[in-house]
Amino acid sequence: MDLLQLKDKNVVVMGVANERSIAWGVAKQLFAVGANVLFTYRKERSLTKLEKMLEKYDYTAKAIIQCDVNDDASIEEAFQRVKEEVGVVHGLVHSVAFANPSDLRDDFIHTSRDGFAFALDTSAYSLVAVSKAIRPLMTEGGSIITMSYLGAERVLDGYNIMGVAKAALESSVKYLANDLGEDGIRVNAISAGAIRTLSAKGVPSFNDILSKIEETAPLRRNVTQEEVANMSIAMLSQLSTGVTGEIVYVDGGYNIMGV
Ligand code: NAP
Repeated sequence: MDLLQLKDKNVVVMGVANERSIAWGVAKQLFAVGANVLFTYRKERSLTKLEKMLEKYDYTAKAIIQCDVNDDASIEEAFQRVKEEVGVVHGLVHSVAFANPSDLRDDFIHTSRDGFAFALDTSAYSLVAVSKAIRPLMTEGGSIITMSYLGAERVLDGYNIMGVAKAALESSVKYLANDLGEDGIRVNAISAGAIRTLSAKGVPSFNDILSKIEETAPLRRNVTQEEVANMSIAMLSQLSTGVTGEIVYVDGGYNIMGV
């Protein structure tokens, strides 16, 4: 019995920069279950890496399309291409975030007006913009997932403006879930534990965060890219049709701890 029902479904994956990217973990599992994967990328460097990775693993992408989420015209063009390629979309993986590195180095109180707006635009508003763009393509219903982090609700040293952006992202998930529910489209966030990726390098206290999780999380270890991908697959699939507007933790239980 095919419990997932993702075979031959069209899923857009945004945010693969290299093999460590959380989005790449999700893409690999999507290929494994027979989904058609369409990628979006921003930098040419990411495109080059993605093409090499696809070749290495012998995967064929349905399409690879440039999309800069800071730019409305780029989003419109990208999802027009998605429409031309597949017509109907069943899933969207939004795994995109960015903040000025300088805003993560200093105390949060020094965040600039521009830096605040930029982080919120890239890391939270982008979910609203791409959900709006993909809604007309999810004519058979669908599932949208995004990646969040515990810094949305707790003060984590060095996470600063990204924490505020993740709080806005999580709230946006709930409002979007309410708007899109009538179209049979679900919207959820995965709150992933700390994973060593390119983006994580921008968080100065990252090594300390990994060590603290190992000491205190109920599972006494950090989670893997594959574990986040597996929950992502569940949230994209028929296994989770009753779930929307949720923040699902894949963090070894760390979020339940008092310290
Ligand atoms: P990553 O590999 O560096 O992925 C981040 C992606 O965001 C990159 O592919 C990057 O594309 C893309 N991006 C940034 N600005 C963009 C823009 N304006 N338009 C389009 N794409 C843009 O890091 P990751 O850790 O996998 O991050 C993925 C998501 O997981 C993020 O939302 C992150 O906050 C979240 N998350 C990460 C962790 C962790 O510990 N790693 C934990 C919880 C949540 P380019 O490189 O091409 O610019």
